Amino acid sequence: KEFRNNVKPNWCPGCGDFSVQAAIQRAAANSGLEPEQLAVISGIGCSGRISGYINAYGLHGIHGRSLPIAQGVKLANRDLTVIASGGDGDGFAIGMGHTIHAIRRNINMTYIVMDNQIYGLTKGQTSPRSSEGFKTKSTPEGSIETTLSPLEIALSAGATFVAQSFSSDLKQLTSLIEQGIQHEGFSLINVFSPCVTFNKVNTYDWFKENIVNLESVPDYDPTNRIQAMTKLMETNSMITGLIYQNKAKRSYENLVTGFKEQPLVHQDLTLSESDFDKLVAEFR
Ligand code: SF4
Repeated sequence: KEFRNNVKPNWCPGCGDFSVQAAIQRAAANSGLEPEQLAVISGIGCSGRISGYINAYGLHGIHGRSLPIAQGVKLANRDLTVIASGGDGDGFAIGMGHTIHAIRRNINMTYIVMDNQIYGLTKGQTSPRSSEGFKTKSTPEGSIETTLSPLEIALSAGATFVAQSFSSDLKQLTSLIEQGIQHEGFSLINVFSPCVTFNKVNTYDWFKENIVNLESVPDYDPTNRIQAMTKLMETNSMITGLIYQNKAKRSYENLVTGFKEQPLVHQDLTLSESDFDKLVAEFR
């Protein structure tokens, strides 16, 4: 309850992002966090507004750059639980370079992507997640570009936690965010979050018909990276649940000397005048 604030979201009625907001609030409360222990950093897009709708530290950043900011926040103060969030255009187009390197860097934080397979804020253009043949104002004859498979890329980049969920499955989504928060390392959670205004193809009903919940897959082992990759390829990335987790790899900040003892915010970083002079002399 304490993660709710008085700001009324200006998302369209029925937008999938409402459920993501609720799931983050529930997961944070279920994890025993207080609002001052959580930072939500978002990019640009309809989904980027989410940082303003949660009672926690928040920063509505710049397009495709939620991850550099969020990683900086975590490295400066690793006492904070850090969640970065944004849309598929934000994270998998302009921000894809940051996404890949954040995955392989493995800082202990959670990245939640609201994947509606279109650019909503700018009124409906093709995104990297749009299907081939998808018609929008920017592709009136249908998209001819290959649809990006970000979770396959994440596995290839050495991800230690990969999950996927659906806005309509609040229970699963909340549980996955809780698991992502508990995971030591970078957790990527892609969420099918329908844009009811501009995407008339990938609707709630379409997702319900096409999603394969991993709970229904016998003997699925989320510690098996090859099985995870195979299942993604077999289902055209339409699986939901915990797809892959590697608990053995330690997070970046627990490996870097200087960060692992205590966060930067608790270190005395003040320099005496003579230290400062010495530092300047080294660069002369
Ligand atoms: Fe949600 Fe689409 Fe409306 Fe944006 S335009 S708020 S993504 S339904």
